[in-house]
Amino acid sequence: MTAQLDLATVLLLHRSSFLVGAVCFLYARWQSPRDEGLGILASGFLFLALASTLAGYGEQKLLPAYLWTLSSFSLGIGGYALFWIGIRRLSAGRRRKTDWLALGVPLIGALIGLATHFHVVNWVRAGLFNTTASAFLAAAALAIVSDRAKEPLPARVLLAAAMAVGASLCLAVVAGVIRPGIIPITPSYAFFLSIICHFAIALFALVLVKERAGAELRRSAETDALTGAGNRRSFFARLPASNWRGDCLILMDIDFFKRINDRYGHRAGDQVLVAFADLVRDNLRKGDRFARLGGEEFGLYLPATSEEQAQSIAERLRLAVEDLRVPSNGEQVRLTVSLGLAVAEGVERSWEDLFNRADGALYEAKRGGRNRDVSSCPSLMPEPPVARLNRAS
Ligand code: GH3
Ligand code: MG
Ligand code: MG
Repeated sequence: MTAQLDLATVLLLHRSSFLVGAVCFLYARWQSPRDEGLGILASGFLFLALASTLAGYGEQKLLPAYLWTLSSFSLGIGGYALFWIGIRRLSAGRRRKTDWLALGVPLIGALIGLATHFHVVNWVRAGLFNTTASAFLAAAALAIVSDRAKEPLPARVLLAAAMAVGASLCLAVVAGVIRPGIIPITPSYAFFLSIICHFAIALFALVLVKERAGAELRRSAETDALTGAGNRRSFFARLPASNWRGDCLILMDIDFFKRINDRYGHRAGDQVLVAFADLVRDNLRKGDRFARLGGEEFGLYLPATSEEQAQSIAERLRLAVEDLRVPSNGEQVRLTVSLGLAVAEGVERSWEDLFNRADGALYEAKRGGRNRDVSSCPSLMPEPPVARLNRAS
């Protein structure tokens, strides 16, 4: 059974699809606290809906040919230009003023139309319109794909694919206009396919916004807001569940941090924490993990690290912290850190065992005078001073 697509109905659905897309974008824009280009996308779709409506009235001879051809042509191209600007913003938050120059395309088209009346010739108007639309759609797809390395959200592939199909469809229409019969699809069917594309573009753009919000939520749930380091929860959640033999845990605690707060102020204390975290992060190897476990205590997980390597890393960090000067309020704040490290022997029952060993070593470093690193010795393992694994950060 073959479906009969009535052209008038398909055209009505065609402009409705733009309206539905515009409403979805507007709703998402209202819900989203930041401007992600959704408002521009909505206006692009509204322009296209208007252009499609004018063309529909024109086809029904409700408007003079000269008026509807020029207005629907310019508004339609304007809609695709806005769509491209909106997609670039949605994709990477680009706010380049020069993007708005794209609106010069419909403007120039309208001026040339006024001068030459090319728009009243159906095949010229349709050919130019679809070529330009195809170019804007292809450029938008390219923007979405090229930003994938920076933000690898799965919806990018689907959104770019929907736009690429839309661009190909426009090219197919151009081919059909130039050589009638070359493309084996009727105009009704081409409009039907483009309706599907509009829905797919609106849907996948919204999925992209949702995926981005989800990724941000996950990131903030795993990150310490002050220092940008991982937080306690993500640190322990990401430790390997087994095979940790040879892995190392280093606990670090800034010495006499309370005095820094008392002497320089709480804000200076915050700046010290940020500078300390930046310093440690700059010294990490690939695969190492770093987190703020709470207050002025930090944890480092070093996979596959021998005792000697761990000691040299800890010593390097200690010396770097000793050399650190944190500018605050015209003063240079100095600090030191104590470190306790433990390398897994493979006999530990859980990370808590290793954590307690590192904590014991840290306690020894503090007791020994601070500004030092102490390696835990399993055979001399002290009773854990406090089982702090589950303490809230
Ligand atoms: P020790 O050498 O024994 O570790 O001494 P300490 O002063 O570093 O340790 P103590 O536990 O006595 O004090 C830690 C201080 O850290 C107390 C608390 O107010 C401060 N602190 C915790 N979180 C923050 C923070 O986010 N910002 C600032 N500025 N201070 C914080
Ligand atoms: Mg402490
Ligand atoms: Mg301290």
